[in-house]
Amino acid sequence: PSVPRDGELPVLPPDVDRDTFNKAVAELTELLGAENIELNDKPLVDGWYMEHPNTHDAFHIVQQSELVSSATVYPGSTEDVQKIVRWANKYLIPVFPISMGRNLGYGGAAPRVRGSVIIDLGRRMNKVLKIDGNSASCIVEPGVSYFKLYEEVQKTGLPLWIDPPDVGGGSVLGNCIDRGVGYTPYGDHFANHCGMEVVLPSGEVLRTGMGALPGKNGADNPSWQAFQHAYGPSVDGIFSQSNFGIVTKMGMWLMPETGHQSYMITFPRDEDFEQIIEIIRPLALNRILGNIPQLRNVIQELAVTGKPKSFFYPGNDPMPREVIRSHAKNMPCGDVAWCFYGTVYGPEETRNMQLDIIRREFAKVPGSKFMLPDELPADHYIHSRVRVCSGTPELRELDWLNWKPNGAHLFFAPITPTKGADARVVHEIVTRLHKKWGFDSFPTWCVAGREMHYIANIVYDRADDDEKRRAIALMREMVKEAADEGYGEYRTHLIFMDQVARTYGWGDQALMRFNETIKDALDPNGILAPGRAGIWPKRFRGKGYEL
Ligand code: ADP
Repeated sequence: PSVPRDGELPVLPPDVDRDTFNKAVAELTELLGAENIELNDKPLVDGWYMEHPNTHDAFHIVQQSELVSSATVYPGSTEDVQKIVRWANKYLIPVFPISMGRNLGYGGAAPRVRGSVIIDLGRRMNKVLKIDGNSASCIVEPGVSYFKLYEEVQKTGLPLWIDPPDVGGGSVLGNCIDRGVGYTPYGDHFANHCGMEVVLPSGEVLRTGMGALPGKNGADNPSWQAFQHAYGPSVDGIFSQSNFGIVTKMGMWLMPETGHQSYMITFPRDEDFEQIIEIIRPLALNRILGNIPQLRNVIQELAVTGKPKSFFYPGNDPMPREVIRSHAKNMPCGDVAWCFYGTVYGPEETRNMQLDIIRREFAKVPGSKFMLPDELPADHYIHSRVRVCSGTPELRELDWLNWKPNGAHLFFAPITPTKGADARVVHEIVTRLHKKWGFDSFPTWCVAGREMHYIANIVYDRADDDEKRRAIALMREMVKEAADEGYGEYRTHLIFMDQVARTYGWGDQALMRFNETIKDALDPNGILAPGRAGIWPKRFRGKGYEL
């Protein structure tokens, strides 16, 4: 639905009057062409995942008109990005780069500061620049989605996999620098990137890793996608989850295709999770678990059917455990509490040896049950997991959104060690606070090895202001209580960035002071994504922008 908007449009960047803004836009139009700049002065349309807006957060958790841009600009090249950055410095207009803006649950395409100009890199810079079959790597521009990279790899006929996250429409580059995860053995996206090209807030261009050493006769360095480092400090990390630069190209490693076998194991009791996690840890550390497996609460078996909550339960309060289980009983998983989804890789013999150990270890949990995909119906969620875990992008995970009318979601995503006792502390906080604020709780543990990402997906009705208010209160309390116990988020939505960043306050906010020092050195005018990751440039600090 589109909602009429009040006041004079577009909204203006901070400290910029309308005349100056119009003059600045006229100059940008000269620089890039009228077709490559669009004012945000029309009704806001949320669209859906594949037709998402680049004007605001489609999954608004505050008022829809709150986190909005003044305009969107579409660069066609690194040089265009440099021009835009220099223009922003001249007029002190904040710019907010997005690759594709499908960052739903973390802010979508919205800028942190109202009235910023969005640099939509992906619209025109959307090419796979290189696929190298020998070194199993590629170079992508910001507008390459997982679907597109998948298709391009398929076209080459090379035996290579990509690593998609839960839904495949997002930007490979954008997800990587936001440190997103996928589920094949290459699931840690940032760990599998190799080399960047970055436009700095000054307008200068930098290449990281071996790309810093020019190739012969001006060619790209031949080792750019082979070795992640250069000589000297490793700087790539400071361009992830930051506002220190705009990434215009990125190298990614691709996984050589291999055999794979997915499976599901169910566990009957709510309190089993501690024992399950204790079993997972050594298996993960010894690489018997081949990928980033997921331990999901059984309520998700209901949610991924794509049926609304009202199909299962008439109330708007959190669905009682007995009701969840009474429905699960009639589903392929049966009357259980947890479902574990994993995949093993390699030749059949290796896989079978791994599966034998996995079956044996999890059988220690009384009542657990091991299932293979061909034992489950064709429409079961596991078949979508099989594809994601073997490098094929999917959209199935979006079916969750049907849970609520006008469904949107928000993630609470703390990190814990892979230990039952730590898992319990966080899980109890999440369960108690979801109940307090009236939400169903959808916990999933994604296990990388020594640590787990606990992902609690808050599904809310974005047309219901009270529900939005409660979702924010729930998030704020979970962030605080988890941090008091020593657990912090790996990523968060725009409006919680300040709070989460402050929880990383060891040494009287030593990390934030370090980030601010870098920010002020690289971006003295404070034009690049102010406030992103809680990092505010000098011009904005202490002026009431922090949330
Ligand atoms: P996706 O399409 O995967 O959802 P987004 O384009 O929304 O990803 O990117 C996620 C976040 O990462 C954005 O909100 C933005 O702050 C940051 N970001 C994305 N692309 C770039 C880029 N090329 N350079 C700098 N920051 C970026």
